[in-house]
Amino acid sequence: MIKKVVLSFPVDATDRSLTYDLVKIYDIRINILKAEIEAGKSGKLLVELDADEAALADGLAYLESNGVTVSLLASKISYDKEKCINCGNCASACFAKALTIGEPDWELHFNPEKCIVCKLCLKSCPLKLFRIEFTDNIE
Ligand code: SF4
Ligand code: SF4
Repeated sequence: MIKKVVLSFPVDATDRSLTYDLVKIYDIRINILKAEIEAGKSGKLLVELDADEAALADGLAYLESNGVTVSLLASKISYDKEKCINCGNCASACFAKALTIGEPDWELHFNPEKCIVCKLCLKSCPLKLFRIEFTDNIE
């Protein structure tokens, strides 16, 4: 299973290899979507974690036992469907194929399960119809 989480590292945890441990000890695949972290300072990572449920639970518990705050993403991307003109620009930009347009209706369809929060659709929509919200803002 895949979970998107925000990891908030306290100052004394940023110079430790905790994310490396997730890979080595718990066999969790990590896709870093956004990072704001420097050694010696507190920091945040927006990551996608991929592993079986038990490994994910153990890995996240390990992080929390080392002072890392784990926040699941409560909401992802959304757009104003009422104003959409189905131009397809966002679907062309969405390499994760979360946004698609085509036969039979040629209307935009959004599958939130595939969204990796890359934000490319925000820039690609001429009408600026996309919004993104995280439970823990690392804008
Ligand atoms: S944030 Fe990225 S993956 Fe998600 S819908 Fe937009 S372009 Fe697609
Ligand atoms: S780019 Fe904007 S207007 Fe065009 S299909 Fe996507 S959401 Fe609709």
